[in-house]
Amino acid sequence: MQKELIRYIYFDLDDTLLNHKKAEQNGLRDIYNKIPALQVISVDKLLEVYARINRGLWIEYAQGTIDRSTLHRRRFQESFEALGIDGEINEYAGSIYMEYYRTHWEWIKGAKYAFSKLQEHYKTGVITNGFAETQWMKIRQFEFDKSCSAIIISEEFGSMKPDLAIFNEATQQAGFAPDHILYVGDSLSSDVDGALNAGWNMAWYNPKSLSPEGRKPHLNFQDFQELIDVLG
Ligand SMILES: [Mg+2]
Repeated sequence: MQKELIRYIYFDLDDTLLNHKKAEQNGLRDIYNKIPALQVISVDKLLEVYARINRGLWIEYAQGTIDRSTLHRRRFQESFEALGIDGEINEYAGSIYMEYYRTHWEWIKGAKYAFSKLQEHYKTGVITNGFAETQWMKIRQFEFDKSCSAIIISEEFGSMKPDLAIFNEATQQAGFAPDHILYVGDSLSSDVDGALNAGWNMAWYNPKSLSPEGRKPHLNFQDFQELIDVLG
């Protein structure tokens, strides 16, 4: 990656700038504490089963075989089924989950400082795979709508990362050629594959030091300070 070429930085939202995973787990913990019928299993078991089922449903959603409301319904229905818990409560759990999830949103460690620091030198935008209603709530709460010149949400655009179409749209909105754009994201399959395929520079946020599995991101960083050191 040639730093001098970079003019525009797009960021992924969930688990790159904002700690989605922690908020999801804390939201589930709240539900667990709120609903006595769940307390026949351990909270860790609930987190594990929900994560597995939700991941599978997101794959189906990305493939276009199910819609948003089906995903929202089935993630609790099937988790509770797998855990042997009375099916009656899944609708209630689903309806209160979002309220709890929202209260746990926070920045990833070091991301807030890095984001504001990089904004001194670069224009910025956000590309996120997610539901418009939820993602807009995050974007407003953390004021990305004020700090970024482009906000692209998969549900609004009509396709998800790593689809080339969403990166091409982002290239157009940035107003720079692909080799002047850097993407910062945590997912190998959505972010790294998508950005490299679009001809962008790629900085992979990899806090657990995982293998890139054959991909070649321009930067593989574990801590946001490393990103500032390279680009700041
Ligand atoms: Mg992510």
